[in-house]
Amino acid sequence: MSQKINGVKGMNDLLPGEIEVWQFVESTARTLFGRFGYGEVRTPMVEDTALFVRSVGEETDIVGKEMYTFEDKGGRSLSLRPEGTAPAARAYIEHSVSNQEPVSRWFYMGPMFRYERMKTGRYRQFYQIGAEAYGAKEPAQDAELMDVVVQFLEALGLTDVTLNINSLGDDNCRPAYHAKLVEYLNAHREELCADCQQRLERNPLRVLDCKNEKCQAVAAAGPNVLEFLCEPCRAHFTDLQRKLGVLGIKYVVNHRLVRGLDYYTRTVFEFIASHPALGTASTVGGGGRYDKMMKGLGGPDVPAVGFAMGLDRLVLLLKEGGKTFTPRPDLFIAVADEGSQDAGLALASRLRREGLKVDFDTRGGSLKSQMKRADKSGARFTLVLGEQERQSGQAKLKPMAGGEPIPVALDSVAATVRAQPEAPAAAPAS
Ligand code: AMP
Repeated sequence: MSQKINGVKGMNDLLPGEIEVWQFVESTARTLFGRFGYGEVRTPMVEDTALFVRSVGEETDIVGKEMYTFEDKGGRSLSLRPEGTAPAARAYIEHSVSNQEPVSRWFYMGPMFRYERMKTGRYRQFYQIGAEAYGAKEPAQDAELMDVVVQFLEALGLTDVTLNINSLGDDNCRPAYHAKLVEYLNAHREELCADCQQRLERNPLRVLDCKNEKCQAVAAAGPNVLEFLCEPCRAHFTDLQRKLGVLGIKYVVNHRLVRGLDYYTRTVFEFIASHPALGTASTVGGGGRYDKMMKGLGGPDVPAVGFAMGLDRLVLLLKEGGKTFTPRPDLFIAVADEGSQDAGLALASRLRREGLKVDFDTRGGSLKSQMKRADKSGARFTLVLGEQERQSGQAKLKPMAGGEPIPVALDSVAATVRAQPEAPAAAPAS
């Protein structure tokens, strides 16, 4: 017997039955981002490795440990994209978009790849929806972007999510904070976990978002980045908070929020859900300002701010909500005899053309077994087609939730089904 081949660890199949939740999230995003004037951008799944090394940063976990990097047949080092901000920035620079318009608003959605340790809500191929606004350095742009996320979560019906904000300062004020932080952490080196002792050498800011309790205690008593902000950075952060107030957006200031990528300046933010289903993977999305990245990638000096949401985690939360996303069939067509099989196939085809969602068992079989399948399908109505119905052109719609059968002419089934008020779904038999 041939050996069975399984999918790659940490990379999931999405099958009908589940995919409808994903489609709901994606279509909600498209509608909502469109309302805010964000246009969709699609970049390749694979980029030059140097793009991520130079933007996300060599010392980050994402680039240092988690990238799927390989050589192509031409000897180039390529990587599966671990995130969407750097590829979008690369495209923005490559297509000289800043010469065409002063402000651009883009969104993207698609798979990202990181070789991570897996647990609930953490996979090796996962999906992100993100948005980027280029060309505006003003706090109003940061606030507008957070408003996109807030309205997106509202539209999904996810309300138990808290916005955390912080400012990391800029090249002017961050070095002083950085030096102070390193000095402080070095003094508490022995209290840190083994990972953080290494982070201290490579990327000390990351110690601040370690989940280890001891490290959190050390971080909590450490220097506060907000106390180191220079005047322009402080004014930017204060104005952002005022603007969030104008928009009625609730938030908490969290001076330990740093995020694991190197490219941020000033504003950073995260949306954190409190649902137990997510375990420690409670951050559903985050982002920040990256005013220096474009220039660092050889592009124009254009400020930018963006975010990315994890679709997998949004879907987990929605599934916990217990709502069904799979549309049930309007009608199940059953045939009473072998001779009506072709007529059933043709009727199903015509009704689908007329816009109904119709289920029809192409295998035929006894009427009893077809009625069982009709039950299981969750269809609103079943129509039994036999010789008598074909001769008379008249049939009956049986409401699957119970109630009197409704007489119907075979040439007006679609209109009759549409005219019936929606009753609660018949529970599919298990
Ligand atoms: P990041 O790009 O790390 O800031 O991640 C942004 C969002 O993407 C996170 O808040 C998560 O919701 C999601 N995310 C990041 N990594 C993973 C992963 N390995 N599996 C599932 N979702 C992820």
